[in-house]
Amino acid sequence: MKKLGVVAFGGNALLRSDQKGTIGEQEKNAYDASKNLLILLKKNYNLVITHGNGPQVGNILLANIAGNKLYNLPEMPLDINVAYSQGFIGYILEQQLRNVLEANDMDRDIITIITQVLVNKDDPAFQNPTKPIGPFYTKDEADRIAKETKSIFAKDPRGRGWRKVVASPRPLVIGNKKSIAQLARDGQIVIAVGGGGIPAFYVEPNKLQGIDAVIDKDLASSLLAVQINADKFFILTDVPKVCLNYNTPQEKSLDRITVTEAKRYLEEGHFAEGSMAPKITAAINFVENSGKDAIITKTTLLGVDDGGTRIVIV
Ligand code: ADP
Ligand code: MG
Repeated sequence: MKKLGVVAFGGNALLRSDQKGTIGEQEKNAYDASKNLLILLKKNYNLVITHGNGPQVGNILLANIAGNKLYNLPEMPLDINVAYSQGFIGYILEQQLRNVLEANDMDRDIITIITQVLVNKDDPAFQNPTKPIGPFYTKDEADRIAKETKSIFAKDPRGRGWRKVVASPRPLVIGNKKSIAQLARDGQIVIAVGGGGIPAFYVEPNKLQGIDAVIDKDLASSLLAVQINADKFFILTDVPKVCLNYNTPQEKSLDRITVTEAKRYLEEGHFAEGSMAPKITAAINFVENSGKDAIITKTTLLGVDDGGTRIVIV
């Protein structure tokens, strides 16, 4: 019997902040990341791959603004830009993973699914947008654009200027989850929920529409893992293990923690907001709802025995 694994690649796996973002760089990163999936395929896993899109959608937003300034092209809303990024990253991953498989005499179809994720229009997150996107502006520019476009700007905590912020609502339903599950169980490698998915909501019954928001990729991936009944959920980032007292002399890396311990450490503030905290929350969601294990580790330790931090029910 094949097992079903959901593997969430962090943004870093595909484009690092010290890189420019050329296609050559992204193809190489995708090839390197894909090589790490071989071990799971050899361990009899069917796979769904999810991925971040932060650096890529950031560049798409800038290109969008430049296109508007230079050529008066209509600016596209964020949901459209997330859709672009899913197609573009999915294509690169698909192609590079195919190269890896062929080099290893493996034959699998790989399919990217543009994924909408349902959110609630009454989600409290819409009253308190926190997720910064797009370029930095001066206070005056930010005020002007905020007025013109009815959007909200916030000051960058690192002093780089003002930036538009959008809501990060909770994901509720993964679009096309049945197809994702069926394709994956049938042996196809499915790439889905890129960038946390395209946030969509019902304006009224029978009227689904995209919305300017960003869904956390780890939370959306864990919801997918629950909704397709995955056997294991892997969150890949750039640290080998989750730590207590991270980046202090008392730092201690964790091999195995229960959901109860994970919740306690989360409350004690061991995991930074916006980076490790959502990964832990995502892992807890999956483990609580499935009874199965989640693993947080770095890409090169995927599938390696005792690699990473395992989050378990008891
Ligand atoms: P990704 O792009 O993979 O989502 P993030 O930068 O969002 O990556 O999250 C991973 C980062 O979380 C690590 O690089 C690390 O600096 C940070 N981090 C914060 N708290 C912890 C912790 N307690 N243990 C390990 N890493 C942590
Ligand atoms: Mg992240």
